[in-house]
Amino acid sequence: MAKTTKSNTTSHYSFFESVERNFDKAAPFTEIKDKGILDQIKACNSVYNMRFPVKIGNKVEVIEAYRVQHSHHKLPVKGGIRYSMDVNQDEVMALAALMTYKCAIVNVPFGGAKGGIKINPKTLSEYDLEKITRRYTAELVKKNFIGPGIDVPAPDYGTGAREMSWIVDTYMSLRPGEIDAAGCVTGKPISQGGVRGRQEATGLGVFFGTREMCNDTEIMKKLKMSTGIQNKTVVVQGLGNVGYHAANFFQKGGATIVGLAEYEGAIYNPKGLDVNAVVAHRKKTGSILNFPGAKNLKKSTDALELECDILVPAALENVINGENAPRVKAKIVAEAANGPLTPDADAILAKKGIIVIPDMYLNAGGVTVSYFEWLKNLSHVRYGRMEKRFSENMNSNIITSIENLTGKNVSEAEKKIILRGADEVDLVHSGLEDTMMGSYHEIREIWLKNKKIQDMRTAAFVNSINKVGVSYMELGIFP
Ligand code: GLU
Repeated sequence: MAKTTKSNTTSHYSFFESVERNFDKAAPFTEIKDKGILDQIKACNSVYNMRFPVKIGNKVEVIEAYRVQHSHHKLPVKGGIRYSMDVNQDEVMALAALMTYKCAIVNVPFGGAKGGIKINPKTLSEYDLEKITRRYTAELVKKNFIGPGIDVPAPDYGTGAREMSWIVDTYMSLRPGEIDAAGCVTGKPISQGGVRGRQEATGLGVFFGTREMCNDTEIMKKLKMSTGIQNKTVVVQGLGNVGYHAANFFQKGGATIVGLAEYEGAIYNPKGLDVNAVVAHRKKTGSILNFPGAKNLKKSTDALELECDILVPAALENVINGENAPRVKAKIVAEAANGPLTPDADAILAKKGIIVIPDMYLNAGGVTVSYFEWLKNLSHVRYGRMEKRFSENMNSNIITSIENLTGKNVSEAEKKIILRGADEVDLVHSGLEDTMMGSYHEIREIWLKNKKIQDMRTAAFVNSINKVGVSYMELGIFP
């Protein structure tokens, strides 16, 4: 969705400046009083700006690429790699900074990083994409910018499991014999050391985080809404990996999806849209438009102004800005994308009483499950392998005891539910659910305790600055 959305921006600040501005707004509320430490947290520690040649057809093309390590307060650093024609150094720096704050919020013990290659993956063949990805990885290896204890990339906009498997294979061939090499990247296919549940993790985290807010009686009262996710109307902008899964989980959770948007436009049906039917329609016709029963909206960004309870921008940054923010009608904006609101938009929505669930918390499900994948790679064992059968035997003993004590039989259907030991995906999902719920309450406490903190983004920043700051102070500064 990059093209349509970016040209609409009316922000006065670059993306990195926006992140810095939000940081500065939160800094006075933190426990960190040393300006030097605050400056150190804010700064990008290492910026690797590279150019390398790749032969596309019979022409040599110079590829522009980046890897930014924002904070080394914890190692490895972590963050995705994005393929888009909009990639530039400022964007990668901003996204790397957001990763630092994101990891701190969900208690994932990593610093933040991000990578980007300025290419349009849709116009390149698989062969060319593989060449570029492998060469990029080799550049990272050359400068010691990748490794399970150094810097661990992951998928982001325009990349997925396929690219991650090229990265791990290139890394392993350049560093033979490294026992933990699979942990050099996350978001890999299962066969290459990936973890079950990573693919849908960001979207599921968006759902868990939004649901937690909808279950918060105090907040819902402020918004004059009923508690619970059921029957809430939802609009999702962007049906990529994050938006698609988020929309699906909202639908499964009992919400009504009234609007969906993609590059070519948006569709609206106040009675509800079936997410998978819309995706199947788009696959068949090549467009989201003309979906039976739905109204077409010409511009993709028109979806942002639809009447709904929850608006989920799930594409790229700066889509809600000073120009269109006054027309946003949602009561909650759930930031599934990174940086979808400019600071101007933030101020306008706050005045209108709209609550924004900030990106650095809400889309942290991806990196949380990446952490689980990395742990799996270091431990070399699938989650659940050691305990699944043991739990099933224990559960079976409990059922037998209940039957003996009561003289009644537990039904076969009930037995099936009670007996089952956890599989890897069950453990990953429940670890993610617990993380999203716990982090919500950490931020909420800061937000509601200090009356001067007006929005949840500032509270989220306060939470993460405190954690990163303490880490820097306890680490000490190398003389
Ligand atoms: N690209 C994702 C993000 O922006 C995931 C990062 C990761 O798993 O390291 O959070």
